[in-house]
Amino acid sequence: MVETLRLEIDSAIDELTKMKTKTVLLQMPSGLKRKAQEIADEIRNRTGAEVLISGDSCYGACDLPDSSLRFVDAVVQVGHSPIPSVRCSKPMIFIRAKISIDLKKALESAVHLLKSPVGLLSTAQHLHQLQETKSMLEEKGFRVFIGPGSGRIEEDGHILGCDYSSAKSVSDSVESFLLLGGGRFHAIGARLLTGKPVIIIDPERETAVLEDTDIDRFMRRRFAIIQKIKQAESLAIIVSSKVGQDRILLAQRLSKLASQKNRNCSIVIMDDLSPEKLLNLGFDAYISTACPRIALDDADRYEKPVGTTSELLVAIGLMDWENYKIDEWGFSI
Ligand code: SF4
Repeated sequence: MVETLRLEIDSAIDELTKMKTKTVLLQMPSGLKRKAQEIADEIRNRTGAEVLISGDSCYGACDLPDSSLRFVDAVVQVGHSPIPSVRCSKPMIFIRAKISIDLKKALESAVHLLKSPVGLLSTAQHLHQLQETKSMLEEKGFRVFIGPGSGRIEEDGHILGCDYSSAKSVSDSVESFLLLGGGRFHAIGARLLTGKPVIIIDPERETAVLEDTDIDRFMRRRFAIIQKIKQAESLAIIVSSKVGQDRILLAQRLSKLASQKNRNCSIVIMDDLSPEKLLNLGFDAYISTACPRIALDDADRYEKPVGTTSELLVAIGLMDWENYKIDEWGFSI
């Protein structure tokens, strides 16, 4: 059903050649790090540039390699799409990772689950198939919308774990969403923020599925975390030092509100969160204003409860559980 990963390296080579780049930093997510040597060799051989491989984590285009920029003229990031509102002081070039789904087969299993009009959504690896999916659904009689996103979104229909604006922008016009992308996290976010059913075409599966069953489980787990935040004697609000994840103003506002409710609360600045780092800090509970996936998708890795911005508000009585909102970049108080 699914084609193997294709890396769009040629356009990156063209840009580096045009810029006469002498030294490049190569950044990639953990899942692709094994390809770093091969890609570095190709860039080196085809451009003559020296390539330095970043051994640090790289979670997305939000994750700029600030401390390594002084060594290089440009950065090449593999596997992600640009975030237009996150700017780097050095030229940043993206090598897209594309995975193609067998749309004919996938859509056959999706049509009986979809209600027209349909909103189309995609994670980064399948964006190149959105227009084709739209045409194929229209041929089957569906009305189809692909929504524009915020300043964090480069292409219409793209959703990030921190930004569902391209779903929200068409939510009032559609009866259901079709998401091209593996995993359930994005589907849960789109479902909770729009209230519309989300059908997933997961490249790992043979058939489309309706995202529904996990919502209750997800909400029960979030409710349990809120109860632990309520009981915590000490709280830390974490701010990421990554340029594209920094929400210091929101953290300061939350800290003030928590203090007004007599909660013992500190702000902690960190680059990367890890279970060990949080254990060492010794707080009873943490609120992450960094990438929303840390609290929402990785919660099981942490011994101490890690909640989100809105979960703190529920825990201190400033938001009703019925109005719970999944955390995303546009969240404000
Ligand atoms: S903040 Fe998280 S979800 Fe958003 S782009 Fe960065 S890694 Fe992805």
